[in-house]
Amino acid sequence: AVVAVWFRSDLRLQDHPALYHAMQYAKENDCALLFFFHVHPALSKTFTKRHDYFFRSLAAVRKTAADLKCPVHVVSGELEEAFATIQSSVKSWQAVFYNKDDVGFGKQRDEKAEAWFSKQSIKSHTFEDSHLVGPYDIEKKSGGPYLVFSSYLKAWRDIDKPVPLSIEEEELESLAWRKTTLDTEGEKVLGDLLGKCEMPWKHTGEDAARKRMRAFMNKAITGYHEKRDFPAIAGTSRLSPYLKNGVLSIRTLHHEALRVLEKTSATKQVDTYIQELAWRDFYYMVHVHHPDSKDNEIDANYRGIPWTTNEEWLDRWKTGTTGFPIVDAAMRQLEKTGWMHNRLRMVVASFLTKDLLIDWRVGERFFEESLIDYDASSNIGGWQWAASTGTDAVPYFRVFNPTRQSERFDDEGDFIRAYVPELKNVSNAHIHAPETMSEEEQQEAGCILGKDYPKPMVDHKARRHIVLDTFKQVKEKN
Ligand code: FAD
Repeated sequence: AVVAVWFRSDLRLQDHPALYHAMQYAKENDCALLFFFHVHPALSKTFTKRHDYFFRSLAAVRKTAADLKCPVHVVSGELEEAFATIQSSVKSWQAVFYNKDDVGFGKQRDEKAEAWFSKQSIKSHTFEDSHLVGPYDIEKKSGGPYLVFSSYLKAWRDIDKPVPLSIEEEELESLAWRKTTLDTEGEKVLGDLLGKCEMPWKHTGEDAARKRMRAFMNKAITGYHEKRDFPAIAGTSRLSPYLKNGVLSIRTLHHEALRVLEKTSATKQVDTYIQELAWRDFYYMVHVHHPDSKDNEIDANYRGIPWTTNEEWLDRWKTGTTGFPIVDAAMRQLEKTGWMHNRLRMVVASFLTKDLLIDWRVGERFFEESLIDYDASSNIGGWQWAASTGTDAVPYFRVFNPTRQSERFDDEGDFIRAYVPELKNVSNAHIHAPETMSEEEQQEAGCILGKDYPKPMVDHKARRHIVLDTFKQVKEKN
């Protein structure tokens, strides 16, 4: 008989709950292990950087598995059709193991899959993999989910976290079900998608993820609290694309951070890092309990804001030509690399929703198209935080001043110069607000405003008053 392991956004072979438990089951029940990935038809409809990164990560895990003589078969078509292909190829399909999704498209797909497995009497075993603390594991004493992070964090700290699961590669090899190709159509569909990949990613795959994690644990984590806000410094782990695609397990990452915490005197630095992992769990929990939060403000007080529709403004934000250097550098980093530093995500999201008064949903969707670490829960959480419509305790008065943010977090302008070459020769005195240069200074810097680099597209102070009035009125009306 055969036991299947269904790979999804968990593209690794280590510390993989579904794989680990399937191996135990296969040994006990004398079954072979069949690994598969299903290319959902929806995956072929849009192709963004995120898809590029995902398929390259999938190719990487398939390669590692193939080296261990454990083929990860690819099936395509609608879900039922893909499952039927597997069923027709194996003698007896006894059970399936996979790491489940609790929200969004993944949840709907899992429900459909469960119905099919149950009809076919295939035993299904599902696992929580993507988070340390699941969305139903913490409740307020009075019942119901937390909405305030600080209280959630207290409860989160008290919960025992799962530890990494060790998987023996030789054992894997001995259990694998082998047949060169299960679905030639599936291979072709995946081949076509891989043919569309054009980004020059150098570090995809589990080995690269672990290497980056080790480098971070050996050094940067002990300076994390102080350095994490400065985009010109490699102060954060940059592991989010791996976490998002499950190339690195959150348990392994957390476990390694705890090991550093035990040895180091820089406890505050490491603890701040661990707290970020709690934010990730928090936003997932909030999303699971507010499944409509991609479309609706979590805080009903702020529904119905009269957002501005201005295609030209939106386009200037997207293309990094707002005339605010830090915003422009950030948006160009996103375009070039598919990733953006956290401080800058806050700055550009505040700029779009507050300075431009453009709907946070528009920004959220643009990030969905642009980020390789796009995670619906964290992204919605981040956007609703920036727009002051979500779970944050700070009211809408928080409007980031982009120039102040730039002075504080990129004081020498190194980050700006790295992504906005037009400003390369602008002095530190003017790099955060080039419009303060005299004509002579512009000549000297080889940067004529309005020609080489735009003047600021809005007056921040004036826009701040408008946004505060708008939010106040909406709140009073609601
Ligand atoms: P590190 O600082 O090294 O943090 C370690 C890990 O903790 C991250 O990899 C991430 O998984 C988690 N984490 C850190 N900060 C947050 C946070 N504020 N919320 C949730 N998880 C966090 N993160 C995503 O993974 N995907 C998104 O689509 C996403 N969209 C965002 C949109 C906005 C508007 C904002 C303000 C934040 C968003 N974040 C998102 C959170 C955060 O910016 C990224 O997780 C972080 O920049 C990733 O870089 P890193 O791995 O170096 O983070």
